[in-house]
Amino acid sequence: MNLVYRSTRNSEETATASEAILKGLTNDGGLFVPDSIPKLQVSMDDLTKMSYGEIAYAVMKEFLTDFTEEELKNCIRNAYDEKFDTEEIAPMVKVDGTYYLELFHGSTIAFKDMALSILPHLLVTSAKKNHVENEIVILTATSGDTGKAALAGFADVPGTKIIVFYPKAGVSPIQEKQMVTQKGDNTYVVGIKGNFDDAQTGVKKMFSNKDLAKEMADHGYQFSSANSINIGRLVPQVVYYVKAYATLLKEDVLKAGEPMNVVVPTGNFGNILAAFYAKQMGIPIGKFVCASNENKVLFDFFQTGTYDRNRDFVLTSSPSMDILISSNLERMIYRIAGNNSEKCAEFMKALTTDGKYSISDEMKTELNEFFGAYASEEETSKKIHDVYTQTNYVLDTHTAVAAVAYDKYKEVSKDTTPTVIASTASPYKFTRSVMTAIDPKYDAKEDFELVDELNKISGVKIPNAIEEIRSAKVLHDTVVETEDMEKEVKNILKF
Ligand SMILES: *Cc1c(COP(=O)(O)O)cnc(C)c1O
Repeated sequence: MNLVYRSTRNSEETATASEAILKGLTNDGGLFVPDSIPKLQVSMDDLTKMSYGEIAYAVMKEFLTDFTEEELKNCIRNAYDEKFDTEEIAPMVKVDGTYYLELFHGSTIAFKDMALSILPHLLVTSAKKNHVENEIVILTATSGDTGKAALAGFADVPGTKIIVFYPKAGVSPIQEKQMVTQKGDNTYVVGIKGNFDDAQTGVKKMFSNKDLAKEMADHGYQFSSANSINIGRLVPQVVYYVKAYATLLKEDVLKAGEPMNVVVPTGNFGNILAAFYAKQMGIPIGKFVCASNENKVLFDFFQTGTYDRNRDFVLTSSPSMDILISSNLERMIYRIAGNNSEKCAEFMKALTTDGKYSISDEMKTELNEFFGAYASEEETSKKIHDVYTQTNYVLDTHTAVAAVAYDKYKEVSKDTTPTVIASTASPYKFTRSVMTAIDPKYDAKEDFELVDELNKISGVKIPNAIEEIRSAKVLHDTVVETEDMEKEVKNILKF
């Protein structure tokens, strides 16, 4: 029996896993959710003996039920290989009593690699399975990390083109350099004169534009998404929380069945939702600490039950979390509304028209496993400084936001449960913010000088992802107004 995926905004619209991966978004702009979260069919004891790839298979086969064993194993083999610079894929490091799950050892040094290394394979397999003849155009909005990870994943993949929109003034210098130097005849990178939410809204609009879909089809194209709204992005992210638990078991930090807590630096709510899905699959997780930066719309939501994006968008040192519309929260809203797509559609409509919605007290109670906390820029910077000074471990800015949120959680809860912080990016990606947090004197230096300084003070090898862009040529320099995004897509596709 195949697991059914259903639209959060229309219970009539269903899809198989491969169809949902191909489409990305549902017809009405909703997201696909599985009718139920499957259980993991592996014992805790066996988990501790499995490799990352084996755990990936055990998790993904439950969600992607219309893939054959061979198809799925092929995808996994092609994704989790020597592209990662550690044998472990997602190693765990204990620093000052806390477990940092390092998710940045892939080819673009952000956790997005965990999912975007495999998404192209899942997508090409899905296209084959569904006899799709069109060329697939991956349309992506990025706050900095998804863009590069998706470009790296899809570069020169036959039958695909990838177009990435990023906020021209809203990403780190290294992030931008990573994207605009991307090779591959099928890759397109476009800056927009707007913020991430503008980029994401523009992309979502194109997805639900029926006239555009028709025009695309007439020219032999169809859209798909590499954003975490795609279920093919979300499912591979469940894996590392299962792996993290297995690691804690193996290291005797926990006995089977005892809970761990997780802290996730959150933007679009994809990563933390994957952790929540891991719990539904059977992994004992106590609290989900949802960490925000100064764009603390989620913190306020967990406090008050009102999601309100009517506020100033703040550019912070953790740009991948500079988001006011957390798309994946829609999947959670659908769930706590009792899998009621009509109710969910109403909330999302209110979000579009009024910029806000309020959930009932009953729904809010369903969220009590979540704890929202946020870090100011000052707190984030101080955390990087203090952890480095005390332990010599260098946190990236996003992970530092999570570390501050965890401190705040501990302070109010006194909870001593072993806790895993999702370490979502390498500090090399945000060298300027990281180095000036350690010592303001570094601000005077050039970006790549800072890379060398970071190497000196931390002893951590400079990742290939950084070495390869040092002298790379800029290949993409298009910048457009937000309202011209669709025009630019047509321009790229030549119609
Ligand atoms: C994307 C990203 C996040 C936010 O993850 P979401 O799944 O969007 O909540 C946090 N940190 C880094 C480094 C990221 O790239």
